[in-house]
Order: sequence, then structure tokens, then C-alpha cells
Amino acid sequence: MTDAYAKPELRDLVRNFTRKEIVPHLGDWERAGEVPRSLHRKAAEIGLLGIGFPEEVGGEGGDLTDTIVVTEEIIQSGGSSGLIAALFTHGIALPHIIGSGNAELIDRFVRPTLRGELIGCLAITEPDGGSDVAGIRTTAKADGDQYTVNGSKTFITSGARADFATTAVRTEDGVRLLVVPAGFTVTRTLEKMGWHCSDTAELSFVDVRVPRSHDVGGIQTLLAHFAAERISLAVQCYATAQRCLDLTLAWVRDRHTFGRPLASRQVVKHRLAEMARQVDVARTYVRHTARRVASGERLVTEVAMAKNTAVAACDHVVDQAVQLHGGLGYLRDAEVERHYRDARIMGIGGGTTEIMNEIIAKQLGV
Ligand SMILES: Cc1cc2nc3c(=O)[nH]c(=O)nc-3n(C[C@H](O)[C@H](O)[C@H](O)COP(=O)(O)OP(=O)(O)OC[C@H]3O[C@@H](n4cnc5c(N)ncnc54)[C@H](O)[C@@H]3O)c2cc1C
Repeated sequence: MTDAYAKPELRDLVRNFTRKEIVPHLGDWERAGEVPRSLHRKAAEIGLLGIGFPEEVGGEGGDLTDTIVVTEEIIQSGGSSGLIAALFTHGIALPHIIGSGNAELIDRFVRPTLRGELIGCLAITEPDGGSDVAGIRTTAKADGDQYTVNGSKTFITSGARADFATTAVRTEDGVRLLVVPAGFTVTRTLEKMGWHCSDTAELSFVDVRVPRSHDVGGIQTLLAHFAAERISLAVQCYATAQRCLDLTLAWVRDRHTFGRPLASRQVVKHRLAEMARQVDVARTYVRHTARRVASGERLVTEVAMAKNTAVAACDHVVDQAVQLHGGLGYLRDAEVERHYRDARIMGIGGGTTEIMNEIIAKQLGV
């Protein structure tokens, strides 16, 4: 059977880019709280931003399996899930616009974003709650060929840098998604436990006028695109776990205590075996589910299971990696320390572990 995830040329491209353009600067970006716009342009120049997007809208073609390889390789080469959240926010901001087929919006927002010239974000969550997407309170009142938008959004990835926000609003016709190009205000940039290089913002909309032609779909459109986001987070989970396992393997071979390498202790070996088992199970199930999604199946329950499986594996492995690194694992200098903090968002963002379980339980009929 051919391996749909081998893609050696793509892996080489991403690995070289990550080692040259990301790893040497990641520490600075973590301290700065954001990645520079120049990184978007550089990534676009080698075609990285367009992977998984159709050529007709300025993308490079390919599907979910290609974007998965990009994610795996960035993390495996020393990048991070926070970096992916910041650089690939368009992965959640653009699909609804593309799906609408609106040529004007595609020319104005999609193409320049894939060229690395614009930054978009997806603004769903509100201060009153994120899990209950149907309960959105930001309003868009129709007035001729315009909407007037009022409300606020929070926890918005790349919101502080965004040139436009694909925004969930409540209209007379229920929840809709509008592309809001300007006029919203960044009220606060939020400080977080992890994902430090990814800016996260609170946005305010006060009488923001948006053409009605910027409506790109309703709640079904919104829900349909959750699968790709959840798969992406699940991939970040097992890739982070694999990276932490590899870093830990190198460390336990090198580190001696009581005259012997840590790796020679049975208790350490068994911990590594359990870490490896959890990574492999997560990767196998997530990749399998992703291939089904890429081939056009509309999966909801399996995607929820994939996300929860990968989150649990990641939580376990990053914790064990820090533990096996000892005091070093607690220091900012250790890569596993960053992964440990970054990993904590995975069971919260893109639908929490509890909400994934709600989806699974519904399928069970309870
Ligand atoms: C770093 C970061 C980046 C983010 N990026 C974005 C972004 O780009 N765009 C965006 O729109 N949002 C973003 N979010 C928001 C994220 O999607 C939400 O935080 C998430 O959906 C949970 O919503 P909430 O925080 O309002 O928690 P709540 O919905 O208030 O939930 C609180 C707790 O209650 C649990 N819970 C809720 N309902 C139930 C239930 N029915 N049964 C059992 N338990 C329940 C939840 O699982 C959770 O544990 C981001 C968040 C963070 C922290």
C-alpha cells in the first residue's frame, strides 16, 4: 500500500524552510508575542501558504494530507503548534470565503492572503461563551445593501494582526458568517500560558458597516469547516508528542545518573514505550480519519474521536517528556517546556474535549 503521507519532496521543502526561517527566530517571536508579516511573505514565496488550497483561487493545490505533512514537518523540525496557529490562521479564515464562490471576495481576500500580503482571522468565540456556537450575540442588522455589526469577540488567533475577520454574527436569518475587512477594534491582546508567538485578541465591533455581499454562509457552512480545523489540531497534537518523544529519547541516552544512562533503567524504558504507543495510535487514527475527510466523507463523530485521542496522547507525552528531562524540563531553555505549555490549548481550542464527547455521545444515542 502506498503511503499517502510520504511526500518526501514536500517534507524536504518544509524542513529546510523551518530550519532556516523559523527555528533561529522562534525564541524572539515567543518573546515578541507575534510572528512578523515578513514570515508570511517568505512562506508564500515557496508556496507554503497555498498548500491545500485550489489553484483557481491562488493556491498550490493538494488536499488535507498535504497540509498534514506541512504541520508534521514544521513541528518535527523544531517549530511549534503556536507557530502553526499564527502562520496558518488562514486555514480557518479562508475556506468559507472560497466555499462561497464569490469571485470579488476571493480576489480581494483569498489571493492576497495566500501571497502573504494579508492576514485573516476567524472570529467566532465571544466573551459570553465559545462552545455554544448557536448562542452567538454579535448582531448584524440589515440596512439596504449593508449590514451594521455590533458586538465583541474574544480569544481570536491572529486577531491583533488581522486585516480582515471572517466573523460569526446573528442576523434576522440566523447565524451567518461575514467577512469584515476593517472598522473593528483590537481592544486587547491577551497574554497566555502558551502559544506565545501567536497573537490572540479581543475584538470590538461598534456600528461596523459591512456590504451584504460579504455574507459567505450560514451555520451549516461554519460547522462544515470545523472538521479540517479539528484534524489540524489533532495533527499538531501527535506531531508535538512525537517531537517530545524524540527529544526525550536523545536525552535519556545522554543523561547519566548513578553511573548509568537513564535509558538503561527499566522504568524509563517502559515510560518511553508507553509514550511511543500513544503517539503511534494517535497518528494512525488521525491520519486514517483525515484521509477519509480528504476523500470527501463528511465525518463528525470520527473527527471528534480523533481530536480527543490525539489530545490525550499529547497531554500524556509532553508531561512525561518534562518529567524525564528533570529540572531542565522546567526551564525556558528546554524545547519540551514550550511544547508542554503549548499543548494545553489543544483540549480547549477548536471545540473542547467535553464538546467532542457531546458529539460522540449524540452518535451513541445518549
Ligand atoms: C489560544 C486560543 C486561541 C483561540 N483561537 C480562536 C479563534 O481563532 N477563533 C475563535 O473563534 N475562537 C478561538 N478560541 C476560542 C476557543 O475556541 C474557545 O475557548 C473554546 O471553544 C471554548 O469556549 P469558551 O472558552 O467560551 O469555554 P466555555 O464554552 O465557557 O466552556 C467552559 C468549560 O465548560 C465546558 N462545557 C461547555 N459546555 C459544556 C457542556 N454542554 N457539557 C459539558 N461541558 C461543557 C467546556 O468544555 C469547558 O471545559 C481560542 C482560544 C484560545 C485559548
